[in-house]
Amino acid sequence: MPPRSTTTPDAAINHTHSIAYWNSVSSDINGMLGGFPQTSRIDLQGSSTFLTKLRRKHHQTPKPTSHKTVNTPTPTLEPLDRVADCGAGIGRITKGFLLNVAKRVDVVEPVEKFTNELVASLDGEEQNSAKGQIGEIINLGLQDWTPSPHSYNIIWNQWCLGHLTDTQLIAYLRRCAAGLITSSSSGKPEAWIIVKENVASDSTGMDIYDDEDSSVTRTEEKWLYCFKEAGLRVVSTEVQKGFPKDLFAVRMWALRPE
Ligand code: SAH
Repeated sequence: MPPRSTTTPDAAINHTHSIAYWNSVSSDINGMLGGFPQTSRIDLQGSSTFLTKLRRKHHQTPKPTSHKTVNTPTPTLEPLDRVADCGAGIGRITKGFLLNVAKRVDVVEPVEKFTNELVASLDGEEQNSAKGQIGEIINLGLQDWTPSPHSYNIIWNQWCLGHLTDTQLIAYLRRCAAGLITSSSSGKPEAWIIVKENVASDSTGMDIYDDEDSSVTRTEEKWLYCFKEAGLRVVSTEVQKGFPKDLFAVRMWALRPE
């Protein structure tokens, strides 16, 4: 069992420090991705494929037991009702693919200059339907946000959970679980918490604190520990492929309450 949080690297997390860091960063893809803007396209592609596979698997009807070969057509995936982009920054993920899969995207991001940039960029759009799909814009850190109960198909968390201490993360994930929809008119609900984050090599055995933005990079073991403590089960997981070798490995998890 991981040691108590006062003795672990996350004890050094300071929200004032991280918000000051993010306020000093440019409101563009380069700022969001710490100087690796070229990874955005492949990241969005990987996320979109991961979600599509997850949804298709969810809709798959069990194979008939008879030995007749049945050629079932691939079902069309209907737009999801409501999703949240958490720690959204300038809405790179919202604009890059969440708006394509959901009718409504709520944006949670503590740094107002980033969400202002998102709104301004949509104002400039010729096709303004994207703007109408943005639901609430919530300028809060995730440690202070409680999703409305039973509201979301997907709560997407990417490259921001390192700003929460372990205790805050576990409490937040529990609130996310309560924020997932529990019923749907069309059968079993599509409802997942997605976490896509850097992973520290397990060989060090320790999370790594980064003083520049006051965040931690967790080991896979620590991530799994936090999910379990939050009462979540891993439904699907994958490593993002195609990133530069000198970056941390990036893993996606789809989670649901046990
Ligand atoms: N998820 C976006 C942005 C990543 S950059 C993307 O992948 O493009 C990290 C983001 O986390 C920044 O926008 C930063 O302001 C935000 N952040 C910092 N502290 C946070 C906190 N406590 N809760 C939620 N988000 C936080």
